[in-house]
Amino acid sequence: MLRSVKGLKDILPQQAMQWQHLEAVARTMATHYGFSEIRIPIFEFTELYARSIGGTTDIVEKEMYTFLDRDGSSLTLRPEGTAGVVRAVLEHKLLDSPTSRKLFYLGPMFRHERPQAGRYRQFHQFGVEALGTDDPLIDVEVITLLWEFFLALGLKDLTLHINSIGTPVDRENYILKLKEFLAPLFPNLCGNCQRRYLTNPLRVLDCKVPICQESTVGAPHLIDDLSETSTIHFQAVLDGLNDLKIPYIINHRLVRGLDYYSRTTFEITSPHLGAQSTIGAGGRYDGLFQALQGPATPAIGFAVGLERVTLLLSEDRTSKPAPLFFVAGFGPRGKPRAFRLLHELRQSKIRADTDHKGNTLKALLRSADKLSAEYSIILGDDEADSSTALLRNMHTKAQEIVKLEEITQRIHSIL
Ligand code: ATP
Ligand code: MG
Repeated sequence: MLRSVKGLKDILPQQAMQWQHLEAVARTMATHYGFSEIRIPIFEFTELYARSIGGTTDIVEKEMYTFLDRDGSSLTLRPEGTAGVVRAVLEHKLLDSPTSRKLFYLGPMFRHERPQAGRYRQFHQFGVEALGTDDPLIDVEVITLLWEFFLALGLKDLTLHINSIGTPVDRENYILKLKEFLAPLFPNLCGNCQRRYLTNPLRVLDCKVPICQESTVGAPHLIDDLSETSTIHFQAVLDGLNDLKIPYIINHRLVRGLDYYSRTTFEITSPHLGAQSTIGAGGRYDGLFQALQGPATPAIGFAVGLERVTLLLSEDRTSKPAPLFFVAGFGPRGKPRAFRLLHELRQSKIRADTDHKGNTLKALLRSADKLSAEYSIILGDDEADSSTALLRNMHTKAQEIVKLEEITQRIHSIL
């Protein structure tokens, strides 16, 4: 038997209800906050990601699904959404249009990581990007949307972590201090971090290996090295969150895993997920447009890992389908009339189904139960001859005779 590829997951019909609910809440809330949907391709030229995410990040170093196209060009399955959105914005000059500066997306991302609970090789993100302003209040809006999205889904015990990692210039001095701090700890760091120490020391703060996390507990704080402008910006973001009563903690080690971030960074974690506790994360990326040869454009966004969110969703929060009406037709005249009725019900937006294999009333009602139908519509030869049907409540077993020409009306009055 053929199996799916390691690290990939099927979303089976039962779970799909959860996903529909998640996606519906995401779309509605993003729209309410003024974001418009953008749908971009799931692969791009490799160069886009190499240039935006950063050559010394985990993603670019070892997690991308990169392959050669038939003409020899290097393509990569998208590991995240922001780079593609920025590429599309530049390509289609969306910055010129005031209604296209707040964008959201939903869809699959691909990273070759070690599969484990909450970490897959194809996973799904809901993300937003607010482009063209560095007003601290837009940071507050984006963070608030993320927070309220999780509240709307009924998630509990969440923590919002926030930090400012300043501009690349702010970080120069800090990186020297950090290296000084890390130097004596170097032998304890994981192999990855020993390499990062040389290539991208900030990454060490973000390492998930426990020994590295312990080693960096006393590391100097990046916010102590921010320029005055960055400090004022960060304080204004915190003031805005206080004003809206969004609770947060300042997390000095939050540097995020992508190189394009600057100033505000944030993450929301849940204590109910074990090691992969971050369900949504984001930050400012004021330098990304220029890195992609666009005009200087401050921007901020977040991405939510939807698989991790589904692990936290309680059953009663997921959307349920409309009540099912099971059409039970039998007999040489009943069955064809019932099949037409099934079509009519569906045309009038009633959720209806049947079982083509069932030929007796008993078998049909058993199928109705198995499909969890709320009602059955019984239509044998006698009913067909008198243009009626029996409407049977599958829970109470109460039945009423309804004229076929009135049946959709009757059903709508029940719904
Ligand atoms: P992590 O620290 O968990 O690896 P990250 O910094 O790589 O996350 P981002 O690139 O910011 O994550 O992605 C945003 C969110 O997407 C994460 O917070 C997480 O919820 C989710 N996510 C990231 N990688 C995966 C994955 N391999 N499988 C499932 N969800 C993921
Ligand atoms: Mg990661």
